[in-house]
Amino acid sequence: MSILIKDAENSEDIYIEGNHIKEIGTNVTEADKVIDATGKAVLPGLANTHTHGAMSLLRSYADDMQLQEWLEEKIWPVESKLTSEDVYLGTKLACLEMIKSGTTVFADMYFHMEDAARAAEELGLRSVMSYGFIDLNDADKREQEIKKTKEFVESVEGKKLIKASLGPHSVYTVSDEGWDWIKEYSEEKDLLVHTHLSETRKENEECVEDTGKRPTSYLNDLGVLNERLLAAHGCWLTRQECKTLGSNGVSLSYNPCSNMKLASGGVMPFPWLDKFGVNVCLGTDGAASNNNLDLFEEMKFASLLQKNNLWDATVLPAERVWRLATRNGYRALDLDGGVLEEGWLADLIVVDLGLESSCPGHDLYSDLVYSVNGSCVDSTIVNGKVVMENRKVGGEEKILKEAREQAKDLVNR
Ligand SMILES: [Zn+2]
Repeated sequence: MSILIKDAENSEDIYIEGNHIKEIGTNVTEADKVIDATGKAVLPGLANTHTHGAMSLLRSYADDMQLQEWLEEKIWPVESKLTSEDVYLGTKLACLEMIKSGTTVFADMYFHMEDAARAAEELGLRSVMSYGFIDLNDADKREQEIKKTKEFVESVEGKKLIKASLGPHSVYTVSDEGWDWIKEYSEEKDLLVHTHLSETRKENEECVEDTGKRPTSYLNDLGVLNERLLAAHGCWLTRQECKTLGSNGVSLSYNPCSNMKLASGGVMPFPWLDKFGVNVCLGTDGAASNNNLDLFEEMKFASLLQKNNLWDATVLPAERVWRLATRNGYRALDLDGGVLEEGWLADLIVVDLGLESSCPGHDLYSDLVYSVNGSCVDSTIVNGKVVMENRKVGGEEKILKEAREQAKDLVNR
């Protein structure tokens, strides 16, 4: 299968063969499929490096609540009743929303991951998926979590669009022994490790109380800080912690909407992370705390939060934010994508430049980051296959109907 995207406003013609960008230029004139991009821009697809896809079923179920009450009274009780069908249909809804807003790969962490994988595969979206490992210092639970993790990793071996990773939930929900196993198994299988780090002040205070160390030092002493680690949030990092993360090659997923909505208070210190070479990328977190999975909106918040917090309007300019959402995200997921260059993965999007929000169009990156939202995306291509064209995704009405019914059933169960 070959695709030719021609006459885009911002690029020479792009010729895709198989799952890679084969040629950029004007030499190729024919392909199995030709996309006319007149009046549009062709761009690398976006990488959502931290989400819990199936939580889409809980969108607008519990808002404007304090974090602890939100978790204890609303989210955890529902999650305790979660079935594999909930995860399957919830992840399908998430994938649909991500495809429609220009995301071409996402890093997911949740439960019933075999069903999440099935959903993503059906929609043709690329993903790096991890089973959320939580042992709460209980040896029996740890054995179960190890078993479930291994089963999931084995279940997606050899799949084209899905890569398994490991998902130790956080420093406060996984024991030392749990982390030791994660470390060994990730080395043995060469798997990425996806976790939450320094999301709240409470997490930091309790970690210091229990271990005498801040979360980053604690993970460093366990030997899990390396280029395979993708940590989400980082709202309460000290300068020294940023330095430690950078010198170990860790990637950090910045989730500004979720952090502001749950009033985490701290702000991920982008300038320090940048200075010490941390690979900063973007994530939406789950739809229960965002409430959408639109990375275009996330880019805007990402920049605005830094500027306002630092009293400095020059911090995190548009083109840098765009890079966080594209190349840096793919790099964090160890994938050769997120840039439009020959030989790279054919994960890309076509953005309509004819809308009010991108008119008159003085600067493409400013429009992409500060003005448009995900509904500007006209077509989405993943792994050399068109998964959305002219804003239409196959089977979308059915996905919405089933998700609506399943969500109602879940919260009344
Ligand atoms: Zn999360």
